[in-house]
Amino acid sequence: MSIAEEIQELKSAIRDVPDFPKKGIIFKDITTLLKQPGLFSKAIGLMAEPFKDAPIDVVVGIDARGFILGGAIAQLFDVGFVPVRKKGKLPAEVREVTYSLEYGEDTVAIHKDAFEEHKNVLIVDDLLATGGTLQGSCELIELVGGNILGISSLIELSFLEARPQFEKYNFHSVIQY
Ligand code: AMP
Repeated sequence: MSIAEEIQELKSAIRDVPDFPKKGIIFKDITTLLKQPGLFSKAIGLMAEPFKDAPIDVVVGIDARGFILGGAIAQLFDVGFVPVRKKGKLPAEVREVTYSLEYGEDTVAIHKDAFEEHKNVLIVDDLLATGGTLQGSCELIELVGGNILGISSLIELSFLEARPQFEKYNFHSVIQY
């Protein structure tokens, strides 16, 4: 199977859920892809491929689906894993960044000592939409001393045009809409 066919196979396994979590949003549900063993590993392989020779020390997964994909990629590269979480969830001393959303704002947090020894970071998330969460996460990672070598997202909503702000971080996505 060619890479283009593999990507098409993954795309076909993603379920569109209209009007979730609110009216007008078409939610890209990856649970229908993840539950198929062959497809989960194909998705991980394609997300990891461009970074296989990069000197990555640690994978950072973004709350919450970035934990599923990022955990698997950390295992594949045999490196550590660090979570970026929504405010109020991490137990030890944290740093936080508040970022704007379409309506209102949100806050992401990371442990202050996340990158004491392991600084070269690959960020992993499921989907790039407006990029607000990812922008906040990049600021946060740099605030605690992380050096962002790359970003890998399974899905990119390219019509929202968020990619240009992440090109400097070597942004990669597998599936585009
Ligand atoms: P954003 O900050 O707009 O890039 O979106 C933040 C997060 O919300 C993404 O990482 C996704 O996990 C989730 N998200 C946004 N839009 C969608 C969508 N249409 N389908 C599924 N998840 C979404």
